[in-house]
Amino acid sequence: MGAATFAAWRWKPVFRVSAARAATAPPNFPNSIPLYQQAFTNWAGEIQIDALWTCAPRTASDVVTVANWAQAYGYTVRPRGAMHNWSPLTIRPGSNLDHVVLVDTTQSLNAISVDTTSAPQTVTAEAGALLVNILEALQDHGLGWVSVPAPGDITIAGALAIDAHGAALPAVGECAIAGTTYGSLSNLVTSLTAVVYSPAQGQYVLRTFARADGDIRAFLTHLGRAFITSVTLQAGANARLRCQSWYNIPNAELFAPAGAPGRTFESFLANAGRVEAIWFPFTNTPWLKVWSVAPTQPWFSRAVTAPYNYSFSDQSDPRVLSFLSQLVQGNTAGTPAFGGLMLSIVQTGLIVTGTWDIWGWSKDLLLYVRPTTLRVSEGGAAIITERRQVQRVIHEFYDWYQTRIWYYQAQNQYPMNGPVEIRCSGLDQARDVLVPSSGSPQLSALRPVPTHPEWDTAIWLDALTIPNTPSAFQFYRDMEQWMLANYSSYALVRPEWSKGWAYSSTAAWTDTDILQSRIPAAYKTGYPTDDNFDSARETLDRYDPYRLFSNPFLDTLLA
Ligand SMILES: Cc1cc2nc3c(=O)[nH]c(=O)nc-3n(C[C@H](O)[C@H](O)[C@H](O)COP(=O)(O)OP(=O)(O)OC[C@H]3O[C@@H](n4cnc5c(N)ncnc54)[C@H](O)[C@@H]3O)c2cc1C
Repeated sequence: MGAATFAAWRWKPVFRVSAARAATAPPNFPNSIPLYQQAFTNWAGEIQIDALWTCAPRTASDVVTVANWAQAYGYTVRPRGAMHNWSPLTIRPGSNLDHVVLVDTTQSLNAISVDTTSAPQTVTAEAGALLVNILEALQDHGLGWVSVPAPGDITIAGALAIDAHGAALPAVGECAIAGTTYGSLSNLVTSLTAVVYSPAQGQYVLRTFARADGDIRAFLTHLGRAFITSVTLQAGANARLRCQSWYNIPNAELFAPAGAPGRTFESFLANAGRVEAIWFPFTNTPWLKVWSVAPTQPWFSRAVTAPYNYSFSDQSDPRVLSFLSQLVQGNTAGTPAFGGLMLSIVQTGLIVTGTWDIWGWSKDLLLYVRPTTLRVSEGGAAIITERRQVQRVIHEFYDWYQTRIWYYQAQNQYPMNGPVEIRCSGLDQARDVLVPSSGSPQLSALRPVPTHPEWDTAIWLDALTIPNTPSAFQFYRDMEQWMLANYSSYALVRPEWSKGWAYSSTAAWTDTDILQSRIPAAYKTGYPTDDNFDSARETLDRYDPYRLFSNPFLDTLLA
């Protein structure tokens, strides 16, 4: 692999060209707001644009100014946070970007304040505030959330756009902490402020929606079809957690059929409620992380006081780089050995860093994906079902996935070289919301299903592979089609918005049947006509009739 190819793996949007020096600057852009051309890249580098007009508003009213300028000059406005998304929700590659301005909220729109006098206690964050900083502020006030995404360097608005979730369910007998949710972060929102069109004033303005306002249900998870400037979320008492790792439980035992004896996924779930399995291809013992509530430090647990404790999960190992260089040359035969290498790095790393059993505040245990981790593609889905079906869902997936990678191997093909990730969360339950509420986020994968009130759990199944791995799209298509067929009676499949879905055999986010039929149906069947996928779309259209906050992909998905 040449130096240029390696650079692509770590490509970062570093350079800036100021508007004053560029020939094609957007006309009459408000000169009080910094404007420059900057590169854009998403997490896995599959969307890379060398130079996009980007501005950095200092206040929410600056965003309104940009919106009204955009409406007058025929531009669209794309909010952007940390650019850690996979799906083309910010911009669609290949589309005409001549009249697009990105709005970077991370520069200045990142204030955070905690209110411990309100009931429930809340945190208010501007759109670009990072999750890690919000959790830090909550922790300083004795507060926290029970279920949060694994990376801390994502913005709160970026996280809410895609119904960000963690990996937590209550252990059997565990009492929920008031003010928190096992569902998505969107379900914690008590109010938010968005930039919306006011027909009365004939311009875009700021509008704050309370959770009791019916229209907020479309904004709580909006896929980038709105612009949020700040948000207030409820919180509950912070908790100390313990996280224990295992790497010696055979797949066949952990992912056994439902009801099997032994160390099954469902047995850990019953005991602790918080479980993640990372299963590297062609290996027999996954890396299992189990978090449990532990108010006092267990005797054998090591106390930690900062997040990102698994330092070995970085990509700097030369043997990993060697595999990547083989892959770039189209040589995938080393995939089984690579799976074994990744597992051995985990096994050694847990011991060398003393992290096989750690204990600390929830933030320091729940944030564990480092910004420097290997940047891979992910395709996956949320399987919504009843908690007692978790082991069945996982066993069926394990069985299918294993058979499928062997099927490809028999043809000398290795489309998947990253691990499978398996996690569970709760749903966006109404009972979790401690303020008057109009209901759950209409576009959240964790929206409860009215026709199945017993469905209370989501199993998040993700398969990871390095970008451009041959046959990966075909494999992802096989996987998605199998999921849709297999989980159609006792469960429901919804996309994990931030990742890969709607696969054709050559690309993600392109299958028209899934985009235009299967996905809307997963958010319409059984819901009232004034509270479903269509009503979310209509609400977002009504507040942005000029479609400033959209792109050609969203125009298709939310057509
Ligand atoms: C390594 C890794 C691990 C991850 N793990 C998890 C996980 O455990 N759980 C989970 O749920 N997710 C996870 N994610 C996905 C992540 O939560 C989402 O991709 C999230 O959208 C990233 O936020 P961001 O700030 O990077 O947003 P961006 O990628 O910048 O934007 C994402 C979307 O949000 C929109 N957006 C951003 N700001 C605003 C705004 N102010 N107003 C309106 N829309 C806005 C953008 O337009 C775009 O549509 C992971 C991602 C990575 C890379």
